[in-house]
Amino acid sequence: MKDSIARFVTAAALAVSAQCVTGPAWPQGPDTILVNGKIITADERFSVRDAIAVRDGRIVAIGGSAELRKLAGRNTRVVDLKGRTAIPGLIDSHMHAIRAALSYATEVNWIGASSLSEALARVRDAARASGPGAWIIVAGGWTEQQFIERRRPTQSELVAAAPDNPVYVQLFYGWAMLTPAAFKALSITGDADVPPRGRLERDASGIPTGGIAGDTATITALFARLPKPTFEQSVDGTRKFFRELNRLALTGVIDPGGFGMTPRDYLPLFKAWQDRQLTLRVAYTVFAQTRGRELEEYRNLTQLLPMGFGDDMLRFNGIGENVAWGMYNNDSPSEEAKAQFYEICKWAAERRMSLNIHWHNDRSVGQGLDIFERVNREAPVTGLRWALVHLEDASARTLERMKALGIGWAMQDAGYFEGEQQLKQKGAEAVRRMPPLNTALKIGVKVGAGTDAHRVASYNPFVALRWMLDGKTVGGTALRGPEETPTREDALRLYTTGSAWFAFDDDKRGSLEVGKLADLAVLSKNYMTVPVEEIGGIESVLTMVGGRIVYAAGPYAQWEENSAGPPLRQRRDARGLSGTWPDRIFTAAPASRGIISSKERPGSR
Ligand SMILES: [Zn+2]
Repeated sequence: MKDSIARFVTAAALAVSAQCVTGPAWPQGPDTILVNGKIITADERFSVRDAIAVRDGRIVAIGGSAELRKLAGRNTRVVDLKGRTAIPGLIDSHMHAIRAALSYATEVNWIGASSLSEALARVRDAARASGPGAWIIVAGGWTEQQFIERRRPTQSELVAAAPDNPVYVQLFYGWAMLTPAAFKALSITGDADVPPRGRLERDASGIPTGGIAGDTATITALFARLPKPTFEQSVDGTRKFFRELNRLALTGVIDPGGFGMTPRDYLPLFKAWQDRQLTLRVAYTVFAQTRGRELEEYRNLTQLLPMGFGDDMLRFNGIGENVAWGMYNNDSPSEEAKAQFYEICKWAAERRMSLNIHWHNDRSVGQGLDIFERVNREAPVTGLRWALVHLEDASARTLERMKALGIGWAMQDAGYFEGEQQLKQKGAEAVRRMPPLNTALKIGVKVGAGTDAHRVASYNPFVALRWMLDGKTVGGTALRGPEETPTREDALRLYTTGSAWFAFDDDKRGSLEVGKLADLAVLSKNYMTVPVEEIGGIESVLTMVGGRIVYAAGPYAQWEENSAGPPLRQRRDARGLSGTWPDRIFTAAPASRGIISSKERPGSR
């Protein structure tokens, strides 16, 4: 397999450089050739080419349309991009995607709704679709700042939208609105029934509004009381959520687990992987759940899970984002917590295991870095690609210490949602340089872009890219100064090779170069030239993962491949179909895709 790819790549390179090919060099040629595009390769020189050819999941040629067309064999599909822009598939360096996927098929999301009335319409549609009595759950991922009305829904609005359903609407990890049917279903009649530290919100005259206010523990415990999706619903949710990410040009995530994520919660993901239905590459770390038993949990979970175990679609990538509870989102950890953290970090370093941890404030991050430096003297951590997550106000000194340890920075668009709050807490001067992207790049720290979706943030990478470029919050306040605003080129690199680094994949994906994985997206607009305020609205019209078209819309809609099956070439070979097959499948009506139905999946495991 490897040999034949190598031979093909060499031959393709020769054919392209010769520029005088008269016919297909191989009877079968590439699986797919995209022509007439603006293909942003994000290679070393950030070159833009107009055609790309793919075979067996990898890129086999990049160049001019006329040259690459000549590589086409009888079975090659040639897609005319008609001047559209393609980019390497985007990778989110910190998204709780596995957890979000579990309930995606059974939740309503308000991501991207620009008005409260649109959000309420989504609730109404979901209530109609699921019928009376079914729970309607909006589990975060929105803020009132995104709505033109600039406010949260009232209980009566939710009741009007879904009169026959219990409705639960969560905002970040501090507030939720429930309808009377939801209160009844959860048997909440007073403050005493609300989970830890929570209380019923009341209006000026003391009448409950339907809201519940509390902290992360309150809302997490409240959410845990909602009905859980079934295993089948979670497998379905995983497929649907990953396709939704494909719609936004994402082809990979680095997943940090999350609180409450037990091994059982990974089974829907594993099922989708076994059925070859993953349309997103997932590198996942495991998150310790039990305070005081973190190391014991890691030892147990990783006995048969060596670092890097898995394949190009699904791979084990170490521990985090909680390494030890005593150091998790904590500015003033005790000596005992630090000792425990040291012990776990040393354990990970000795096993050559990667690790990532949240840190919110530069003023306290030295406590973590001191321990990393101590561990590094005893068991080198440079090369293990450890990561600090968040740290929006990182100082140059911190970034230099990270650089020296080979520690990467997984940065998110938290400021998009929380900018106004950060401004209040830290002041205008501080937020001007948050996050200090250009300083980090100058110092040479590895930076990956991302969102930390989805309870708290939106997963839309184009919203994050826009925010990286204009520093504007969801409410429209511009906070960041030009000195820390990256170029479009740099911002894109952070979302591609920048994030791929955290999965040890920057030599395999993140740029479009011969021999790399064929992960790319054709965009609805040209990311490089469109006015910056339009970047947030960009979507993919064709997303490819490992050469398979996992999402397609508009003029390309009929080319989306059924995710339930191995890649095109393997299907063709397994079924022994002749050269007429691609014509039948790609030029006929969409219904002809049924030729390869999910029931006949050849070669599925
Ligand atoms: Zn996180």
